[in-house]
Amino acid sequence: MPVRKCFLRAVTCGQSGTARLFIFRNGVRALAWVCTLLFGSLLATAGLAAQVPLPKPRPAQAPRTEPAVQTDQREAPVDAAPPSQAAPAVAPALSACRLALTDAIAIAPSLPPIRGPGDCGGEDIVRLEAVVVSPTQRVALKPPAVLRCTMATAVANWVRADAAPLAASLGSLLSEVDNFDSFECRGRNRVKGAKLSEHGRANALDVRGLRLANGTVLSLTDRNLSRDIREKVLHSVCTRFTTVLGPGSDWYHEDHIHLDIAERRNNYKLCQWNVYDPMPQIAPLLPAARPDEAPAHTPEEEAGETAGEPEGRAEPPAQDSDAAKRKPPRAASGSKPAARPERRP
Ligand SMILES: [Zn+2]
Repeated sequence: MPVRKCFLRAVTCGQSGTARLFIFRNGVRALAWVCTLLFGSLLATAGLAAQVPLPKPRPAQAPRTEPAVQTDQREAPVDAAPPSQAAPAVAPALSACRLALTDAIAIAPSLPPIRGPGDCGGEDIVRLEAVVVSPTQRVALKPPAVLRCTMATAVANWVRADAAPLAASLGSLLSEVDNFDSFECRGRNRVKGAKLSEHGRANALDVRGLRLANGTVLSLTDRNLSRDIREKVLHSVCTRFTTVLGPGSDWYHEDHIHLDIAERRNNYKLCQWNVYDPMPQIAPLLPAARPDEAPAHTPEEEAGETAGEPEGRAEPPAQDSDAAKRKPPRAASGSKPAARPERRP
């Protein structure tokens, strides 16, 4: 039987009249209950809504709450503006040299990069103020040297390992390094138009001497300073630096020692420093007096001797004509008569 017919039969065509009436009444009651429940829930909802109070307006003196912008930022999409545009500039990463040159080795604060003029300048610049030899000993650079970190490290290593022990072997402590020049934008040997000096790259240091705590000054180019001391310094700097220029290299390094770490092909090093002997302490001796038994001068020798004779040995000038007459000429003593007609007897 079709579904539609079965439904009509269940509602309106029951097996009996009583059954049909019972089914109809129950259906009406169920429908009434459903309507009651729906209507009641609507009334309840309306009543609750009317009883819930609205929030009071925020007082003006109330503390500020977190701005909603932060929530938005936390939930910002990935393709939003990069934070670097809004955030402050991030400091560049420190070089390996800078990380290694700690306060335990040297007092060398970092300086901004030097750019120009021209090709002058460099990166990773420091101001080498002192080298720390031990917790109780510092060797000052006087004045402080402006150098690249790598050159400052080379200087610090030289002072700590060689210069300070040398001073200690002399019975004192090294206290200062006499800095004659460090960074300076100039050509080699201060010649205008010459190739850029390593000083222009903050890669060189000129040293005049070392000062000890007891007041002694080791002037490295002083001929009178112990040759042993100068040679020890020479060997140490020529080992640690790639360029060493001192007395004897050219006319520009007679009063200081130039040190740098310029890189060359095949690790070529330049070590030019002549450790000169001291100058003679006394003037050359005057020629000894001619002994009497010496053979006689020839007239030519006598003439030359007289002309070139030192002033101290010259015959004193005659004070008067009589004295000149009383004193015979030297040539007359045992020598053949002078050829000069005026001295002939
Ligand atoms: Zn120099």
